[in-house]
Amino acid sequence: LPSPIHPSPSPSPLVQIEEVQSTTKTARIAVHTHVKGLGLESNGTALPIAAGLVGQEKAREACGVVVDLIKSKKMAGRALLLAGAPGTGKTALALGISQELGGKVPFCPMVGSEVYSSEVKKTEVLMENFRRAIGLRIKESKEVYEGEVVELTPEETENPLGGYGRTVSHVLVGLKTTKGTKTLRLDPSIYDGLQKESVTVGDVIYIEANSGAVKRVGRSDAFSTEFDLEAEEYVPLPKGDVHKKKEIVQDVTLHDLDASNAKPQGGQDVMSMMAAMGKPKKTEITEKLRTEINRVVNRYIDQGVAELVPGVLFIDEVHMLDIECFTFLNRALESSLSPIVVFATNRGVCNIRGTDVLAPHGVPVDLLDRMLIVRTMPYSIEEMVQIMSIRAAVESIEVEESGLKALGEIGARTSLRYSVQMLTPANIIAGTTGRNSVTEADVSEIDELFFDCKASARLLAKSDGYLK
Ligand code: ATP
Repeated sequence: LPSPIHPSPSPSPLVQIEEVQSTTKTARIAVHTHVKGLGLESNGTALPIAAGLVGQEKAREACGVVVDLIKSKKMAGRALLLAGAPGTGKTALALGISQELGGKVPFCPMVGSEVYSSEVKKTEVLMENFRRAIGLRIKESKEVYEGEVVELTPEETENPLGGYGRTVSHVLVGLKTTKGTKTLRLDPSIYDGLQKESVTVGDVIYIEANSGAVKRVGRSDAFSTEFDLEAEEYVPLPKGDVHKKKEIVQDVTLHDLDASNAKPQGGQDVMSMMAAMGKPKKTEITEKLRTEINRVVNRYIDQGVAELVPGVLFIDEVHMLDIECFTFLNRALESSLSPIVVFATNRGVCNIRGTDVLAPHGVPVDLLDRMLIVRTMPYSIEEMVQIMSIRAAVESIEVEESGLKALGEIGARTSLRYSVQMLTPANIIAGTTGRNSVTEADVSEIDELFFDCKASARLLAKSDGYLK
């Protein structure tokens, strides 16, 4: 439904796209923000340190080939499997791929075990994540009419008449208040041609803005503070001559569309609202809703208003998925609405969950057949130190050379993820002693306070008498 501020002359959608909330899992990718791409030269060879990535050259080059396959549309129906020990940068590589595909390409990370929820079906969880990884770029050419209240983007606010004020002799901006009597005091030096100074319900104010005199249009700070335009309802005035076409680009994912068009469950009364609090999922996305959204999306695509932006769905610990999920995935990969799926595993041969069949990485052979497999290798201490220094810079934490080395050694002994997580606590320790850079001593102190998962498990096993 078009919002009242923008009476859209383009085909009005049945689904709401104006106020779609983004549902990107930002917290999950926070530790990978330094990754900006794959860091490859134009001939495809990996630079030792580039785009935030360190080492892992073979895997990065292989991922570069995959990016080429995707770009030349030869990846349809296929998927990528990254196989390697934990903490060898599988997530980082998958994110790198999505960034090589272009800006605003969705990236959705998930873990295989996420599908096991008591409330939602396994295939439903997969479907939701598939749709989080498919973007839709909506390009709308909005026509601005005489008499329309125009909401400007921040850039345009700088120079609102830059686009149309000079080519057309004047722009009429109409405003009708619907709430109470308001006094609208306008700065006459800014607004020429003011018709009235005080407005009541139903009154219409025309502001004739010519010769670049209007600095801001439709914004509260354009008027005196007594009048809160944001809180008022605007009523668009009848259309006049077209003044300008305005290109509006909006990037959303299919899941954003699903979620913002789903109806809240239950009624609006207090009891059902209380009941809804206990349920984590307050809205229900039905198959019917998705079909409807797909229909509208397809129509937009046919009309050239929108284009699909397939992103990257990253499924870690693929061996946690069961046979039912694999059946779904096999089918979903063939759909024309499919993102690039990157699987990751650290398992060798194991049972396919839900069966007693052994298979490489716990993945059924028919799905494995569709996969390109890339190995990721453990990092050297030097590489870990490099990664730590990149992370420290991104998190604005100063670490002394010896501190970085200590962190790198911890990483080699435990895991890269553990040592990356040590950065902030070590910085806090440094702060409590009044220093603003992390030393080797801070790192050792933190290392004594915390346990990596292997050490912790060993200790518990020992105290239970399982280990001698
Ligand atoms: P995996 O999925 O293999 O466990 P990951 O990508 O999730 O690996 P983590 O173990 O979480 O990696 O890695 C810890 C941190 O190191 C993350 O911030 C990650 O972005 C970063 N990292 C991993 N590999 C590289 C690399 N080759 N270059 C730069 N940063 C890396």
